[in-house]
Amino acid sequence: MIVSKVRQFFRDLPLGSKLAGLSNLLVLAVVLALTLFSIRRERATFRQELEDQATLMLETLPLTIRDQLYQLEIDELVDVANVVGDNEMVTLLKIYDSEGALLVDAQRPEPVFGQVSEPLGESLIGLDAEEIVLNWEPDQLVAGRSIRLGNQVIGAVAIGLATEPLDAKVRGLTRQAALIGAGALIAGIGLMILLAREITTPLSELTEIAGEMAGGDREKRIQREANDEIGQLGSAFNTMADSIKQREDDLRRFAAGLELTVAERTGELQEKVEELEKTNKALDIARKQAEEATEIKSQFLATMSHELRTPLNAVLGFSQLLLAGTSGDLNEKQTDKVQRIFRNGQTLLEMINDLLDLAKIEAGRLELVEEPFTVQDWLTGISLQFDGLAKEKNLAIAYKLDDRLPGKIVGDAVRLKQIVVNLLSNAIKFTDEGSVTVDVARADSKQWTIAVSDTGIGIPAHAQEYIFDEFRQVDGTSKRRYGGTGLGLAIVKNLVLTMGGTVRVKSTVGEGSTFTVTLPLAEETDDKEG
Ligand code: ADP
Repeated sequence: MIVSKVRQFFRDLPLGSKLAGLSNLLVLAVVLALTLFSIRRERATFRQELEDQATLMLETLPLTIRDQLYQLEIDELVDVANVVGDNEMVTLLKIYDSEGALLVDAQRPEPVFGQVSEPLGESLIGLDAEEIVLNWEPDQLVAGRSIRLGNQVIGAVAIGLATEPLDAKVRGLTRQAALIGAGALIAGIGLMILLAREITTPLSELTEIAGEMAGGDREKRIQREANDEIGQLGSAFNTMADSIKQREDDLRRFAAGLELTVAERTGELQEKVEELEKTNKALDIARKQAEEATEIKSQFLATMSHELRTPLNAVLGFSQLLLAGTSGDLNEKQTDKVQRIFRNGQTLLEMINDLLDLAKIEAGRLELVEEPFTVQDWLTGISLQFDGLAKEKNLAIAYKLDDRLPGKIVGDAVRLKQIVVNLLSNAIKFTDEGSVTVDVARADSKQWTIAVSDTGIGIPAHAQEYIFDEFRQVDGTSKRRYGGTGLGLAIVKNLVLTMGGTVRVKSTVGEGSTFTVTLPLAEETDDKEG
């Protein structure tokens, strides 16, 4: 936690302060290390000197006082002690008798004789002949030895030498080091301030110019002659600024070009739209004209069919009269010819009827009745019309009625019958052997179907698309062989569509066809039944 805070603080410091701080720390550490090192060395040298001096003194002193000590001439001893004690360095001088009791103490004005026994004295007299004891105390070095005459211990001597000069020296050194450190620190700080200015000024300049550039002034560049890292940074920055400006100019040019293109395209589009509008208007007119044309065609057909039927009925009527033989004077050949006139007239009449129907449906003049009829009766009516025809061609004919269908359905029974008649006529016409089936069923709750199937010649796939168009047959040979006009399926399709249903065919050439009409199912809701 604290460590990371300190680290963050150091990171946030300006670059100059960082550099100055680091190098000053370094200088201080060096000064400190040097000072410590020289203090240690001084202290070691001084200790050695002090010990050498103490040893030297303890070697000469016994020779000076040996006789007086042996004689116990205290006054003489005190004199010697006082002379030695005059030396500033000497902190103590003690002379002991052969028992280790203190005889002379340089610090005491009056020597005490044989009364004070000291542990130091007692330990000193037990020493070997040449042995010297050195003892470092806080502010003095105490050294001592025994004194002998021949082999006999006659006493001991101890001197103390002050360490104060050493302490003074250490203090001096420390002061010196502190002075050097402070000097170095000040010099370092000055140097660093200069250096930092040299580094941070261009950096601040860089920051400022970058800010201005970000603010939109793309012309600003860094002025810098030096080729050091900062100079290189500056020129890299300038290069970057150049390329940004270049790219912006490119973009601006591109945008201008784009605007132009958009304007052009918009213009073109507008032209296209206008053209389209014109075309639309033309189309509208064309459609209206087409509608009018269809209307006129239907009207024409209706009128023509009507006008045609009147004379044709006359022709048929007279042919019938002729054939009925009321005049009785027709020979075989003539009868045959009149029969042909009658058959052809009938075909013509059928065709005119079909045309009339189609014209009515197309002109939207066909009015469907919505009345309930009994499906079973309706189907029986159809079968009565076709059973003979099927028998003539030796075809089996079947009628299926789904018992899920209601007994009565609401619709136009006559037109529904026309649909089935057309489909069934085709089925019988295009089937030479096998069977024909009419299947009336319920598809679901809302629809019912009438499917007319045969085992006849079938219809090729490509023709299945157009046989519902007016006057279209599978091909020319069909017309020659089977006759017909190509109107039956067109009527079926138009009727079914008018009733809101659909018709589709499924067929395989040589196997047969199935035409399925799907119609909306309307049940009788009248409660007359019940
Ligand atoms: P057409 O008066 O020629 O029968 P339609 O519109 O009823 O006119 O039929 C168009 C053509 O469709 C027929 O000429 C025939 O080629 C083909 N077609 C219709 N029904 C069948 C069928 N059940 N089997 C084979 N071909 C059929």
